[in-house]
Amino acid sequence: MSVLVIGSVALDTVKTPLEERADLLGGSASYAAVSASFFSPVNFVGIVGDDFPKAHLDLFQQRGINLDGLEVATGKTFRWSGEYHWDLNTRTTRSVALNVFERFSPKLPLPYRRTPYALLGNISPQLQLQVLAQMERPKLVVCDTMDLWISTAQDALMELLTKVDVVVVNDGEARELTKQTSLIKAGRQILNYGPAFALIKKGEHGCLMFGKDLFFSAPAYPLEDIHDPTGAGDSFAGGFTGYLAQVGDLSPHHLRRAVVFGSVAASYCVEDFSLERLKKLRKEDLDERFRVFKQMSQFEG
Ligand code: AMP
Repeated sequence: MSVLVIGSVALDTVKTPLEERADLLGGSASYAAVSASFFSPVNFVGIVGDDFPKAHLDLFQQRGINLDGLEVATGKTFRWSGEYHWDLNTRTTRSVALNVFERFSPKLPLPYRRTPYALLGNISPQLQLQVLAQMERPKLVVCDTMDLWISTAQDALMELLTKVDVVVVNDGEARELTKQTSLIKAGRQILNYGPAFALIKKGEHGCLMFGKDLFFSAPAYPLEDIHDPTGAGDSFAGGFTGYLAQVGDLSPHHLRRAVVFGSVAASYCVEDFSLERLKKLRKEDLDERFRVFKQMSQFEG
């Protein structure tokens, strides 16, 4: 089954302690859609300016992503620049230029409206709500968000949380959203806001999944070299949702596997800048690392 992916499409400038690269393909929807495309057909929703390089569109097309919902507007593409500190877990936003995003009002092509799975990637909750309102109730709606929206658009975000099935946040965002220091309390509290499942990503320490009768803790893949953490969260959400759309089954067994496939996709993403690693990825690579995850976390009772 297919997945609708909405989010940002960006040209990023990324600085790590060892390297700086400019004008890279980025944006939450770019990472999420490419990651999901390894599992399921993707209907893409987003906006770029007329400066957006054709090579990036070619990448989406090579992955079989449906671009009927990608608007190419007069003006400049959204730009973001960030700098990572030595631990690579913390980053500072250096600049953001909304550009064509300032007047983005997504209108779903008619055939998109019945897409059974939706991934509302990181973008303002108002835009996420606008897209969701145009869909016929999907089988599963997953949403991602970021600290910016928790502090500047909390009402819209809380409204969104009443309308989605799964929310994906990182540990810092979970604490900020719930005002809890314990991630266990935070995860449970997020369920009270509406979603059936809450996923809390802990970077190099793995991921926690909370549901009414479900708790799952997945490790992170022990990577030695991380080149650029940008997009790890979006790749996680893309792999998670794409896998669930592929199997069409929301049982705890498949939800756990989805968390691991999301973690696998994220682990590949950070091995290179931008989408360079995902571009070269094969489905077999995802399956191989999935097996390693299983081996790594298995023990006898
Ligand atoms: P992540 O590393 O998963 O948090 O996602 C990084 C991506 O988010 C980058 O490629 C940025 O272009 C994009 N991004 C940064 N700020 C925003 C924002 N305010 N809205 C939407 N996307 C953003």
